[in-house]
Amino acid sequence: MSTTPPDSTIHACRRCGACCRWEGDVCLTEPDISAIAGFLQMGEKDFINTYCRLQRNRCGLSLIDDANGACIMLGADNACRIQPVKPRQCRDFPLRWNFPGWETRCPAAVNRKGGPAVC
Ligand code: SF4
Ligand code: SF4
Repeated sequence: MSTTPPDSTIHACRRCGACCRWEGDVCLTEPDISAIAGFLQMGEKDFINTYCRLQRNRCGLSLIDDANGACIMLGADNACRIQPVKPRQCRDFPLRWNFPGWETRCPAAVNRKGGPAVC
């Protein structure tokens, strides 16, 4: 994980949904859990039991994946089903939260050294 500004220019998100299909945790803070449960009109315990798992480091909760490995909240047309209350990690990507190598996988990243990183 990194919070260092990358060696890239960030263009507008293309809404491709790729970052919602990457492996890894979609980490949830306590305010995230409260907001998402409320948005889904679920109790927090029901939300956790239905949509959450332990993070890989077992230090918190993550959203679960669907059968294809995408985030369980990724809907049709690459739209996030909880867009108004999506987790902090999702709102912060890529400028305030990212990870090594993200620039090679996000079409919004344009590497200053050599044009589009992908696509
Ligand atoms: S991978 Fe990049 S361009 Fe695609 S939805 Fe995520 S942030 Fe936007
Ligand atoms: S919560 Fe929404 S924005 Fe975040 S990974 Fe899941 S589908 Fe993508």
